[in-house]
Amino acid sequence: MSLSEFSLIENYFSKLTSARQDVSLGIGDDCALLQCPSGKEMAVSIDTLVEGVHFFADVSPKALGYKSLAVNLSDLAAMGAEPAWFTLALTLPEHKPDWLRAFTEGLSLAAKPANIQLVGGDTTRGPLTISIQVHGLIDKRRALRRDGANIGDRIYVTGTLGDAGAALKRRLENWSPEVFEETDWQYLQQRLEYPTPRYQLGQQILDYASSAIDISDGLLADLGHILERSHKGAVINPAQLPLSASLKKLPQEICLPLAMGSGDDYELCFTVPAEHADKLEQFDLNIHCIGEITAEKGLRLVDETGKEMNIDARKGYDHFGT
Ligand SMILES: [Mg+2]
Repeated sequence: MSLSEFSLIENYFSKLTSARQDVSLGIGDDCALLQCPSGKEMAVSIDTLVEGVHFFADVSPKALGYKSLAVNLSDLAAMGAEPAWFTLALTLPEHKPDWLRAFTEGLSLAAKPANIQLVGGDTTRGPLTISIQVHGLIDKRRALRRDGANIGDRIYVTGTLGDAGAALKRRLENWSPEVFEETDWQYLQQRLEYPTPRYQLGQQILDYASSAIDISDGLLADLGHILERSHKGAVINPAQLPLSASLKKLPQEICLPLAMGSGDDYELCFTVPAEHADKLEQFDLNIHCIGEITAEKGLRLVDETGKEMNIDARKGYDHFGT
């Protein structure tokens, strides 16, 4: 048998990452054999990225490899799970060893700090498509779900919002505000191509948070999923949204819709009962309180004076929507 693309990936990958003790049998047999410790349950998630739908055809293979895994790690983060193993199904139009090497380098860049091991996969011929399934570990019945938000819980987000959306807006609409310098664009592009999955923070908030989700489709859409599953509403103050120095250069009517409506930031949005919030805020976690869960259904935007705000933010990206 000739050296397939997958064994090429495996070969590069194993040189760039370390092996886990809980892998009884890795790549090379019909299945991998993995040890799930007693007392833990497994968090499993899969994401598919298709050229032209989820990424541009001219994206660098390194950035693509990184982001393919990072978006999956972000789902583990949203449950509070510790990353453990992943599998990869790669559909490729042609065999290009240089492309595969760069793709694997990006994959390793996301995998190594997360201590997640590649334990199986497959390559086929066809339009460029990447499917990654991740497996994480979490103490039984402790996972952060979308349905745990309660009335009075404070709503938090990590990092800054809208950065990836700004980079996408430039690409899709030829948008080029005068206030942005080249360094702003470099930063925003980096945020789009190399998002930081918050799996460490996801585990740190386990003792405090009542629900969580990662922001892949935009804050309003993703917070909306928590509200729907928890049968609650929310009020948020857009002035509290954490913005990067670059986005702060823009007028509010431009940066706030980006921060609320655009996706791809892969930050976390989570809720914390008020009695835990002060304890949580003692840690230096780069989290920001943006509002509160309410009994009244729906999501309201209200400023400090209690005045309702009407901001036109796109309601997230729905691949099957209109
Ligand atoms: Mg998610």
